Amino acid sequence: MGILENYREVLENVALAAKDAERKPESVTLVAVTKTHGAEKILPLLKAGHRTFGENRVQEAEKKWPALKAEFPDARLHLIGGLQTNKAKEAVALFDVIESVDRPELAEKLAAEMKKQNRPLPCFVQVNTGEEPQKSGIAPKNAVGFVRECREKYGLNVVGLMCIPPVDDEPAPHFAFLKKLAREAGVRELSMGMSGDYPLAVQQGATFVRVGSAIFGERETPKA
Ligand SMILES: *Cc1c(COP(=O)(O)O)cnc(C)c1O
Repeated sequence: MGILENYREVLENVALAAKDAERKPESVTLVAVTKTHGAEKILPLLKAGHRTFGENRVQEAEKKWPALKAEFPDARLHLIGGLQTNKAKEAVALFDVIESVDRPELAEKLAAEMKKQNRPLPCFVQVNTGEEPQKSGIAPKNAVGFVRECREKYGLNVVGLMCIPPVDDEPAPHFAFLKKLAREAGVRELSMGMSGDYPLAVQQGATFVRVGSAIFGERETPKA
């Protein structure tokens, strides 16, 4: 199938899962994850009216997105991958939402850049719900306190939580856990669910799903 057919099928699945959960389909935003894919695969979605996209690396996004955003100024780009503090400046300049805030040094640096550039971007706190040592994300036990710190100490506009469940785990308990943490932290948005599990994530309350391969096909050089 082509990219547009895949895209429409994913939207349809999101809508069905939302209805299943007695939610409005518009309460879920599809973040089309374009990492590793070139402009020729992204343009059909932009031309079809899709506006929300995700990339996981600042340097890669800087190569393709400035030109795409010049052509489609209302496209919104989410940073969904781990961010080094020395890339905060470039990230704030290019992205519209930062989904991967996961430590105080980064929160502080992002807040300073947002102020300097006058771009107060919505942020998500990434939670390492599986407590995997190699994965970014704040430890669950520190998540609620960290959201408060981001808001009160650094003045970040934290709108929600994000997680990437361990590949070998059932995702459902991680989604439920993230929802519980979000309630405790007093944030509304939940970014959870990828190609393999986005309908389940929607049933469990996701307001953003991040879907790559189900739309664009398998990535040639997988980047986590
Ligand atoms: C690559 C990526 C996705 C999309 O993964 P698919 O399985 O291709 O849908 C979602 N979230 C993050 C953080 C990613 O890095």
